[in-house]
This record gives sequence, C-alpha cells and structure tokens, in this order.
Amino acid sequence: MTSLTLLLWIVGGLVLQLVIYLGIGFWRNSLEYRNLRKLTAQLDLPLETEGSTQSDQIAVAAWQGFRAFKVHRKVMEDAAQSVCSLYLVPEDGEPLPTFLPGQFLTFRLDAPTTGGANEKPSGTAEQIIRCYSLSDAPTPDYYRISVKRVLPPTGRDVPPGRSSSFIHDQVANGSRLQVRAPAGHFHIDRSIVPVVLIAGGIGITPLLSMLNWSLIEQPGREIWLFYGVRNASEAVMTAHLEALAAAHSNFHLRCCWSDALPEDVAGRDNTRCGRINVDLLRVELPLKPYHFYICGPTPMMASLVPALGDWGVSDARIHFEAFGPASIQRKQEAANSGGKPVGSPAPSAVATAPGAESENAIVVTFAKSGKQLPWQPAKGTLLVFAEANGISVDSGCRAGSCGTCQTTIREGEVAYRQQPDYDPDPGSCLICCCAPKTSVTLEA
Ligand SMILES: Cc1cc2nc3c(=O)[nH]c(=O)nc-3n(C[C@H](O)[C@H](O)[C@H](O)COP(=O)(O)OP(=O)(O)OC[C@H]3O[C@@H](n4cnc5c(N)ncnc54)[C@H](O)[C@@H]3O)c2cc1C
Repeated sequence: MTSLTLLLWIVGGLVLQLVIYLGIGFWRNSLEYRNLRKLTAQLDLPLETEGSTQSDQIAVAAWQGFRAFKVHRKVMEDAAQSVCSLYLVPEDGEPLPTFLPGQFLTFRLDAPTTGGANEKPSGTAEQIIRCYSLSDAPTPDYYRISVKRVLPPTGRDVPPGRSSSFIHDQVANGSRLQVRAPAGHFHIDRSIVPVVLIAGGIGITPLLSMLNWSLIEQPGREIWLFYGVRNASEAVMTAHLEALAAAHSNFHLRCCWSDALPEDVAGRDNTRCGRINVDLLRVELPLKPYHFYICGPTPMMASLVPALGDWGVSDARIHFEAFGPASIQRKQEAANSGGKPVGSPAPSAVATAPGAESENAIVVTFAKSGKQLPWQPAKGTLLVFAEANGISVDSGCRAGSCGTCQTTIREGEVAYRQQPDYDPDPGSCLICCCAPKTSVTLEA
C-alpha cells in the first residue's frame, strides 16, 4: 500500500467517523425537538378544560356566604416569627369541600380599629374583609392559611396592618373565624407540562399549595421552585421544602437570597444570591416549554412578567397573582395598550379602556348618593373615585378578589384592566378594579 492510499484510508475513516457523529447528534436533537413539539402542542390546548369544569363544580359544591371555622392549630413558620399558619376546621363538622391548589379564602374579621383616618375611635372592633391563599394541598381534614405580619411602611407614622396584626396577636387555638368558600382563578393546571413556580416573600403561599399537590398527584412532573426572600430568616417552611427536594428527583428547589447572611449560603447547593430575574432562569432552566406561576410583590412581578414575554414565553403560559392592587401588563397587553409603560404599579390611575368615550365626556352617577361627577383616568378606579368624593362603599381586598365591593350598574359600561378573580353577578361590577368605559350610573 502506497503512502497515498494509506493517507486516503485515514482521511476516509475520519470523514466516516465525523458523519456518524453528526448523524447521531442530528438524530438525538430531532428526537428532543419532536418531544418539545409534542409538549408545546399540549401547551397550546386551552389550558384546562378539565380544570375549569372542576372549578365550576367546586364553586357549586362549596357553601354560600360566610361559614364559621375554628382555629385548630396555630404555628409560627419562620425564624423571624413574622409568618404564622392557621389550621382551620369547620365548626359544623360537615365535610370540607376541596379546592384548586392556588385558590384563596376570604375572611370577615372583627379586628380592633387603630384610630386611623376614616375609622371609628381606637379600641372598638370593626368588620374587615381580607383574602388569604390556601397554603397546603387540599386534604379532607383542614384548610391552612399562612399570614405575614404587615408592618407600617418605613418612615411612615401609621398603624401596622390590621388584619395581619389581629391574626398574629389575637387569634389563637380555638378562635372562631368567618370564612367564605375557596375561590380564585390562579391555580395550577393539570397537564404534565414542566412547571416553574416563582415566589417572592409571602407570595410563596399559593405556590406551596400547588407544589404540595403536584408532588402527590402528578408524580414525575418536572417542577421548579424559585423562592426569593431577603435571607434565610425570612424564608418559611424551608425544612419542608428541602425535604421535598431530597425526596423527589423531579422537584428542583432554588432559594434566592437578595440580602444573604454568610451562613445562608455556606455548604448549600440549592441557594443563589440575588434577586430572581430572567438571567437567573436562563442559567438554571433547561430549555423546555414551561408553564410559569408567579406570586410576589408588585415590583418583582412588574419586571418579571414582561421579561418572560421578551424571553419568548407566550402570555398563555404566564400565570400570576398579586396580593393587592397591582397593574402588571403582559407583553401582548402592553402592545395593545399602545406601548404604555409595562408593569407600572399604578393602583389608582387607570388607563382609559379601549373603545372608551372621550375621557372628558365620561360622567359617573352614584344613584343612591345622588351625585353626578365627571371622571378622567387620573381619578383612578371607581372605588377610589367614589371614596374621594365622600361616597362610602364596602370594600375588602381592593384587588378584584373578594367581591365585597360588587355594585349594580344601572346604565353604561365599565372595563377591567385585568380580569378580576371574583366573577361579579351579571349587571354588576367590582368597583375596586374597574373604570368607566362609557358614562355610567351605579347603585351606590
Ligand atoms: C388573593 C389574595 C391572596 C392573599 N394571600 C395572602 C397570604 O397567603 N398571606 C398573606 O400574608 N397575605 C395574603 N394576602 C394579603 C392580605 O389579604 C392582606 O392584604 C394583608 O394581610 C395586609 O392586610 P392588613 O389588614 O394586615 O393590612 P392593612 O390594614 O390593609 O394595611 C396595609 C398597609 O397599610 C399601612 N397603613 C395603615 N394605615 C395607613 C395609613 N393611614 N396610610 C398609609 N398606610 C397605612 C399599614 O401599616 C400596612 O403596611 C392576599 C391578598 C389577596 C388579594
């Protein structure tokens, strides 16, 4: 064999190896691509035909109005002693309807007044309405909520949060609480598509319910939890989360400390320093078509939701809930609103609804109060507008969740910036989160 033939054999062998290597790579990638396509196709189905039906059934099966519950157990959940859980059982001993993981309960509490503006004198009790997410998977034995003590904003001389202080300081084992049935549209889907839960602070509560449920009911479903707090002392139920991560190889836990103490990170491979953002998700998450469920403070969601959209996640795969008045815009909504700033937390100012009358022409009539007033977007939601004009309307969560502010519309139309969690009766609206689309007459 001449040296030329030998060289040709070597080159031929190398080329053959290269072709085989590339062929295998192509075959593997095309398999992965096909699986990805299959998952994506599932994602593009309406999220949950099955789930919505179940939601309706649950609404029918659950009770109307308020029902008395007893606090069976109260436990502190964090080293900072700022979050407590209440285990609640119905006083009538009747079965407990199930719920969809992610839903919340609405409470009517006889909380002492603090003597603030528009309140009765300090020390008297007044009924207030607040919502708290169910923080465990459904079980037939109890409902659990977990409540963070809300302090006055830094530098403000105002009283602390009324409901959370009442629950922390005065509610104990055996206390009686009035509770409305589980409700809310923020709940995990029932598909097998990988899921990413993102929690900021006390926003962990609905996601804990989703996580606990999913690990029991959807064994093998890939599930990630990114849990952001300042440091380990503020994190709740970390022992539980770490035990779940150790027991389930399909569950990936990432605790993200924005202001970590040295001992928070030492020797732990599931902790990360810094805030949760898309850069972190890009590094941590293998490329897959996830569903994202997000609950946290408004600034976190206001940046994360549009950033996920920019990363290519479709609106249909981004689900979020705010624990108070918030205005988070998805990518498509931002485009539709003509490029208004996305995610701006604008609790009072409300953008004019698409198709609204010229804003100067909109007049709101409060029929019972006998007031007729011009409205512009800067005047805020109808609730803010009513209050600013001395019209008193009952309200609770101010976020479209509890239904307390439901008001009949006699004439005209309103628009919601975001679909509320509570479904108002036909012919009525939730004035805490809507604005007039035309001139309206309200029964208030
Ligand atoms: C769907 C939903 C689910 C929720 N789930 C949870 C949950 O699982 N866990 C949880 O902890 N929370 C949850 N929340 C939030 C909860 O409902 C309450 O909003 C929260 O507990 C604060 O209520 P509060 O009565 O303690 O505070 P509020 O009395 O409403 O006070 C709120 C803030 O205002 C300040 N303040 C008081 N007076 C004044 C004044 N005059 N001027 C300016 N500021 C003032 C207070 O100091 C406090 O910082 C949820 C909310 C919703 C809508």
